[in-house]
Amino acid sequence: MKEFDTIAAISTALGEGGISIIRVSGYDSLNIVNDIFISKNSSNILDMKPYTLKYGNIIDKNSNENIDEVLISFMKGPKSFTAENIVEINCHGGIYSTKRILEEVIKAGARLAEPGEFTKRAFLNGRIDLSQAEAVMDIISSKTELSMKAAVKQSEGSLSRKIGNLRNRLLEIIAHIEATVDYPEDDLEEVTSEATINNINSLLIEIDNLINSSDEGKILRNGLSTVIVGKPNVGKSSLLNALLEENRAIVTNVAGTTRDIIEEYMNISGIPIKLVDTAGIRETDDVVEKIGVEKSKNMIDSADLVILMFDYSSSLDDEDFEIINYIKNKKYVVLLNKIDLPKNIDISKLNSLNNEFIFEVSAKQLIGLENIKNAIKQLFFNSQIRNDGVVVTNIRHKEALIRARENLICALDALKNTMAIDLASIDIRNSWYALGEINGDTIAEDLIEKIFKDFCLGK
Ligand code: GDP
Repeated sequence: MKEFDTIAAISTALGEGGISIIRVSGYDSLNIVNDIFISKNSSNILDMKPYTLKYGNIIDKNSNENIDEVLISFMKGPKSFTAENIVEINCHGGIYSTKRILEEVIKAGARLAEPGEFTKRAFLNGRIDLSQAEAVMDIISSKTELSMKAAVKQSEGSLSRKIGNLRNRLLEIIAHIEATVDYPEDDLEEVTSEATINNINSLLIEIDNLINSSDEGKILRNGLSTVIVGKPNVGKSSLLNALLEENRAIVTNVAGTTRDIIEEYMNISGIPIKLVDTAGIRETDDVVEKIGVEKSKNMIDSADLVILMFDYSSSLDDEDFEIINYIKNKKYVVLLNKIDLPKNIDISKLNSLNNEFIFEVSAKQLIGLENIKNAIKQLFFNSQIRNDGVVVTNIRHKEALIRARENLICALDALKNTMAIDLASIDIRNSWYALGEINGDTIAEDLIEKIFKDFCLGK
């Protein structure tokens, strides 16, 4: 194992809470913490038993003043998250005390960790591969149980094993080809070529399955981005409130340039539904002006799912038809709201839309809303959510799979058209290389840097 310097960061969310944890990792971690720790029974922590706790105080080394009462835990490498010696300081969960302790740790010789650096060490030290490291981050940002299940599976190495298996089989094919080329006797080339085509075809089926799982995977990881469109007063906010009341999962603030965008997540049968621009919907309550067809179109463009809402009690106009036309090729649910009032929409005029996805509802009286749930499942999870199979949730992995696939198609072409099996071996090698980017075997250093930069601090 390479020896890296010792790093430290606050690993809990910074705020007022019961406890905070400052994590220190590296060969010198025990020494560094020992330098600023006074145990209650006056023993030092250098000979501390791994996986136990020590009670005492962190002190300011200059003034010898107590900073906070803490518990120290020690995870001895390689049996730790980073595979290095990790010392964690559990202190009182105040912003000031936590930062003060981190400051002392740094003064005592640790370096402030970069975002994701602990996980990166776990990767560099060979404890986990890249796809597992990425899954650690996904576990943290999971919005629903189903998203988390997919991330946990990946962190346990389900994808790594699958990719490892595919790569081994590619290597076998390459070895086989090279052996044939080295001994160009009889009709060996022809026989090998045929066997190779069969092997590649079966690999392609498995790669395609993985690529196909990524539509669902993306939704599990990032949420299904959903817009609710419709004229003012059709009942959008009422719908939103009704849906959120029952299913609200998480609200996050995404800092924007002009104002913060509020992302709200609903949890519908484990599927994280990300509602786009819900703040905008709420604002239309007070704003007289209409949302406008152009803005609606923009919102529709950026969404995976469109919920188009009409007021059943007022007839449709040209603008409505323009939007109806516009959503035809999207995945949509059309809601005819206010069924408690007299109906004024001629449904036959909606025949350009699939009536399986048109529902009569009342957002105010909470009638028919469960149809939305069923429609979403039908639209996006036709193939049943794969709880046991491997799901590709990460776009980076999907892209690598697509490249691996393209290379194999080229290999097939070479084999079919020219019988030049040594040419095919170059494509197969490229495919092997592309798959290696998923678990990090064949990825460039700068890309690794980039991946871990997106992690959160202290992880
Ligand atoms: P938005 O402008 O599209 O967000 O519409 P709102 O949700 O603010 O609703 C406009 C008005 O329609 C409000 O007075 C709601 O109470 C009312 N409304 C919403 N849903 C229904 C419904 O199902 N039936 C009836 N009768 N009124 C509703």
